[in-house]
Amino acid sequence: MIRVVPGTKDILPSESWQWQGVEQVCAKVARRYGFHEIRTPIFEETELFARGIGETTDIVGKEMYTFSDKGGDSVTLRPEMTAPVARAVIQHSLIEESTTLKVWYSGPMFRYERPQKGRYRQFHQFGAELLGSANPVADAEIIAFGYSILRALDLTQFELHLNTLGNTASREKFRHELVAFLTPHKDGLTQTSQNRLLTNPLRILDSKAEQDKEILKNAPRLSDCLDDESTAFYEQVKELLTIQNIPFIENQSLVRGLDYYSHTAFEFITDKLGSQNALGGGGRYDGLLSMLGAKNAIPGIGFGLGIERLLLLLGEEAKAAGEEQKPDIYLIGLDKVCRNECIRLAAELRSEDFCAVIDVQNRSFKAQMREANKLGATLVIIIGEGEMQTQTCSVKVMATGEQISVANIDIPHKLRSIMLANMPIPQ
Ligand code: AMP
Repeated sequence: MIRVVPGTKDILPSESWQWQGVEQVCAKVARRYGFHEIRTPIFEETELFARGIGETTDIVGKEMYTFSDKGGDSVTLRPEMTAPVARAVIQHSLIEESTTLKVWYSGPMFRYERPQKGRYRQFHQFGAELLGSANPVADAEIIAFGYSILRALDLTQFELHLNTLGNTASREKFRHELVAFLTPHKDGLTQTSQNRLLTNPLRILDSKAEQDKEILKNAPRLSDCLDDESTAFYEQVKELLTIQNIPFIENQSLVRGLDYYSHTAFEFITDKLGSQNALGGGGRYDGLLSMLGAKNAIPGIGFGLGIERLLLLLGEEAKAAGEEQKPDIYLIGLDKVCRNECIRLAAELRSEDFCAVIDVQNRSFKAQMREANKLGATLVIIIGEGEMQTQTCSVKVMATGEQISVANIDIPHKLRSIMLANMPIPQ
């Protein structure tokens, strides 16, 4: 049997409605914040990610799905969306002087990681990017947008962690101090951290290894290296979150190692999903677009949420997004003529936007009734010889068992009012 490739998953009909529910909530919240969708190709020139994410990161170093196409060009399945969005902004000149661009995206990303619960090789992200503003108001908008999605999904078991990396000057000062502090302790660090000391020292702060953590206990702190501009920026982000009642936890070990990151870094963390505890995160990347060839420096900030992890957390919290689609009406015909009448009537009902389902296997009345039950139909229409003669049909309300006769001419109108009367009251 041929199976899915490890680290990838089928999204089956029994679960796709939850995916649609999450995606719809995300799109709805995007609308509230005035963001528009952008769709870029699933693969890009490898160079885009090598430059846009950074050669020293795990993503570029170890995790990219890169291959040569038939023409010999190196292409890569996108591992994230900030670089493709930045490319599109530059290519189509989407930002002019003093304008901003607010976009969201949703779709699959690809990273060759070790698969485990909450970590896949093809996974899905919903995310947003706000480009063209270097103002902390933009940071607060982006964080509030991500937070609002989690709340709109009714999730509560998470925390927002916040940090600042400061401006370039502050970060350089910190990098110097960190390297000066760690160099004498080099031999006590893990091999990965020793390598990072040369390539990307800030990322050592991210290390989960006990031996690194022990040494880092006395390391200089980024907050001590912040200049006045950086501190003022951070204070304003915090104030803007506070006035929106968005709770956050300051976390100094939240870092992004690359040069083009600055100021705000944040992550939505949960303790309900084991080691894959990040639901999503983001940050400010003021240097990225220049690095990718933009003529003017275009600042930006964005976030990405992992859809699989949102769904896992919804499961943990015993909540659901969206609603499983059930038929409004299941039509049962008792003989061939009646079945044809069911087909005619189903077409009429569908054009009135009902979900109408018919038997497609010529099964017995009992089997059809069983299927109507299994599918959770709200109403069942039964047409037999008697109904054909009187130009009516029998309508059974499944929730109550009540059965009534409705004249054909009244059907769509009458069914709508029966359905309304039998709808669960929204909570
Ligand atoms: P990142 O771009 O690494 O900051 O990822 C943003 C979010 O995407 C993470 O917080 C996760 O929720 C999700 N994510 C990243 N990598 C994976 C993966 N391999 N499998 C599932 N979700 C992922």
